[in-house]
Amino acid sequence: MSNPIQAVRGMNDILPADAALWEFFEATVADWLRAYGYTQIRTPIVESTDLFVRSIGEVTDIVEKEMYSFEDKLNGERLTLRPEGTASCVRAATQHNLLYNAPQRLWYQGAMFRHERPQKGRYRQFHQVGVESLGYAGPDMDAEHIIMTARLWKLLGLEDVALEINSLGSSEARSRYRSRLIQYFGQHADALDEDAKRRLHSNPLRILDSKNPAMQSIIAAAPKLMDDLDDESRAHFDALRQMLDAACVRYTVNPRLVRGLDYYNATVFEWVTTQLGAQGTVCAGGRYDGLIAQIGGKPAPACGYAMGVERLLALLQDKNFTPPALPPDAYVLHLGEQADHFAISAAEKLRDEGLSVVLHCGGGSFKAQMKKADASGARYAIIIGDDEVAAGEVSVKPLREAGEQHRMTPAAAAELLAR
Ligand code: ATP
Ligand code: MG
Repeated sequence: MSNPIQAVRGMNDILPADAALWEFFEATVADWLRAYGYTQIRTPIVESTDLFVRSIGEVTDIVEKEMYSFEDKLNGERLTLRPEGTASCVRAATQHNLLYNAPQRLWYQGAMFRHERPQKGRYRQFHQVGVESLGYAGPDMDAEHIIMTARLWKLLGLEDVALEINSLGSSEARSRYRSRLIQYFGQHADALDEDAKRRLHSNPLRILDSKNPAMQSIIAAAPKLMDDLDDESRAHFDALRQMLDAACVRYTVNPRLVRGLDYYNATVFEWVTTQLGAQGTVCAGGRYDGLIAQIGGKPAPACGYAMGVERLLALLQDKNFTPPALPPDAYVLHLGEQADHFAISAAEKLRDEGLSVVLHCGGGSFKAQMKKADASGARYAIIIGDDEVAAGEVSVKPLREAGEQHRMTPAAAAELLAR
């Protein structure tokens, strides 16, 4: 026998034992997004490589080394498994003219792909839920995004995530700041690590995002963009802070918060926990007013954010959260050829009434079948033998509470269970 085939490194199976948690999370998220008036958008998993290079930026971790890119064998097109969702969302909205009549509140969910070193909370295939509001310029939308995520943490029972916010300013303020950073880090070139040296002229803001402990003191002393923010960005940021205060959402201003993607301007934010080691950011986003125009759309302001589903689920698991169990209503046992046929139609009748029903498959004695019924967690066993078939009835036995076994028609059983 050859070696059994394994999943690709860093790409996880979600096994039945964990699927209940995922389903709980996805259902919670769908209700929560509906409560804020967001509608879902689904885009392809593969996009042209150019989309991500142009939006995320050439000199970013993602584009430099994390993308799964390949050439289409037939036509030589350069394609990439999406590493994030914003670029696709903006591409689709532009391509289909979604902003023609009205701004859009959109959300998406799904698998993303990045070629990173796998570790807890960092995978090569991972999942995000993302929100994008296209065509909104004001700080009210930034505030809505932050306030709604605060509500989601409450719905999920997560208390230990903290909010950090910052403003990256206008593109002019950012480029002035860029020069100041190049000058500052240039003066401390000996203290820079390899990554930082490489980034010094291409993307100096990203040096602020370095996780290297040896770099932290020089980063702490670096000039802050906050100190000479343009007037418009400052007013936007102040208004956002007032709205957060009014909504009683607590935050800290982190002047080092720059985000790893190039398309952000003005507001950026992250929700961070100390519980997941270095992988502490569970949700991140901000404003990207230039992106729609950058990928060829009619200029429009926009902002959004994405959360890492695996990281949020890890937090829930660490708290020993158990999702509400959803056992079947009934498990149908049957013995004998006629009973086998009758059981199929009886089970269908129960399902007609909206009940969830597991029909025993694979034969075996009533005793063996009853063990399976018990293990299934079903509320009732529906038992069908020769006697029941002869009478056109089923026997109904409660499994989770005391009570006698009773004979009745399948229709009466459906009515009893549905009650
Ligand atoms: P990090 O600094 O942790 O690499 P990032 O800035 O690259 O994060 P974003 O591109 O902002 O992450 O993605 C938003 C969220 O998606 C992150 O905050 C995180 O929760 C999650 N995420 C990002 N990369 C991964 C990954 N490789 N595995 C699991 N979750 C991830
Ligand atoms: Mg990253």
